[in-house]
Amino acid sequence: MSHHHHEPESVLSLRVRALESLLVEKKLVASEAVDRIVSAYEEDIGPHNGAKVVARAWVDPAYKQRLLADGTEAIEELGFGGVDLRVVENTPGVHNLVVCTLCSCYPHALIGLPPTWYKSFEYRSRAVREPRVVLREFGVELPESTEIRIWDSSAELRYLVLPERPAGTENLREAELAELVTRDAMIGVAVVQPPTPAAR
Ligand code: FE
Repeated sequence: MSHHHHEPESVLSLRVRALESLLVEKKLVASEAVDRIVSAYEEDIGPHNGAKVVARAWVDPAYKQRLLADGTEAIEELGFGGVDLRVVENTPGVHNLVVCTLCSCYPHALIGLPPTWYKSFEYRSRAVREPRVVLREFGVELPESTEIRIWDSSAELRYLVLPERPAGTENLREAELAELVTRDAMIGVAVVQPPTPAAR
C-alpha cells in the first residue's frame, strides 16, 4: 500500500501543478474581464473595443501619443480598464506581431476571445521562428526591408498592435474607421484594408 502510494502521489502532484497553472490562466481571464467580455460579445461583437482605441489613435495624435506611452492608462480613458497593456505601432518600416509563447495570453477586454489558431502550439512556436512565413500564410506580404517585431504576451502584460491607417480614409469619421479595424490586425497577422467601393 505504502509502496503504491508513493508513485501515484508524485504523478498527482504533477497533475496538481499542471491544473494549477491552468487555473491561474483561467482565473486571470476571469478576474480581469469576464463581465466585460460577456457584454462585449453580447452587445458589441462587431466593433470591438480595441477597434475604438485604434480609431481614436488614428484621429487624435495626442491620444495616440498617450496610448503608445502608457497603453494601460490610455485605454482607461475610453473606459476599458483592467488590463496591463502595451500598444505597439506599425509603421512603413516596422510590423508588430503578438504571440503568447507560453499559453495564450491575450487582451480579451479589447479584442474578445482568442481565435483557435492563436492558442495553437504551431502558431506560438512558428510566430517566433519564422514570422515572415507565418505572416505570408495569413496573406500579409511584407517587404524584406520591413522589420518584424515579435511581442510575447504574458499574464502580466498584454500587447495590442496599432495598425497603420489605410490610405484613402482621410474623410472617414472615427466610428467608420473603427469598423475597418479587425481583430487580426490588432494581433498583427493582418493589415487594415481600406473600405471597398461597394461598402461606401
Ligand atoms: Fe499566456
